[in-house]
Amino acid sequence: SVSVRGVSKSFGSTPIIDGISLDICDGEFLTLLGPSGCGKSTLLRIIAGLERQDCGTIEVAGSKVDHLRPKRRDVAMVFQSYALYPHLTVSENMALPLRMRRLSALQRLPVIGALLPNTHSVSAEIKTEVARAAKALGIDHLLARKPGQLSGGQRQRVAVGRAMVRHPAVFLMDEPLSNLDAKLRVQMRGEIKELHRRIGVTFVYVTHDQTEAMTMSDRIAVMLDGQLAQVASPQQIYTSPADRRVAELIGAPK
Ligand code: ATP
Ligand code: MG
Repeated sequence: SVSVRGVSKSFGSTPIIDGISLDICDGEFLTLLGPSGCGKSTLLRIIAGLERQDCGTIEVAGSKVDHLRPKRRDVAMVFQSYALYPHLTVSENMALPLRMRRLSALQRLPVIGALLPNTHSVSAEIKTEVARAAKALGIDHLLARKPGQLSGGQRQRVAVGRAMVRHPAVFLMDEPLSNLDAKLRVQMRGEIKELHRRIGVTFVYVTHDQTEAMTMSDRIAVMLDGQLAQVASPQQIYTSPADRRVAELIGAPK
């Protein structure tokens, strides 16, 4: 679960997130839907710990995480741009979060860490984890390639795979399909939903595409100018939009 409580954020003197509160249940697929520039990515980055709010708190799985760095929060983010390292292979890209976690665990225990690590079994464990995620996403034949040798859809799968290997309590996805062509977008929608069904963890999914929001979400939080205009099921938002702006965004008859 994720709780956003009274969160605000300004850049300079411009308020971008304006007193948002939102409770996202365990296992829920919640979509933040809103036009470009309304603050969706900023809110997601605040939840991930990549951006610091001016006021308010964030809880993940019932605990405040405001003091925790991104890596220490039980969340994994998939970026619109995929954010893969071009000089690393698919397999190395996917293993990276696990390697970093391992490294920081060892840094916290310098003496024991120096004695303990059986690097072979550690990397075997990571390899198994990467192989499992790659198989689930149908990219196991691409593990030795570099991102530059992949299609957009394949890159997108690698980005999801890199989040999966961490087994986070919460997936944060920022318009992961926006760089794909229409046909692939529809296919990947289904695959992300299937992933959600299979692992049953909380998803916070950002999009400005109303069809994506309507077809994928348990609930939609409609965001306009840094505030939530309505939080409800796709059905409710479609049949009873809170106001005209929401109706226009969803495309329901007024
Ligand atoms: P899009 O759908 O285009 O991705 P968004 O809803 O994700 O839009 P944000 O990226 O959250 O919007 O940006 C919200 C507003 O905050 C925009 O006006 C943007 O220009 C501004 N903004 C975002 N990051 C910064 C920053 N680091 N410094 C100053 N302004 C910023
Ligand atoms: Mg954005």
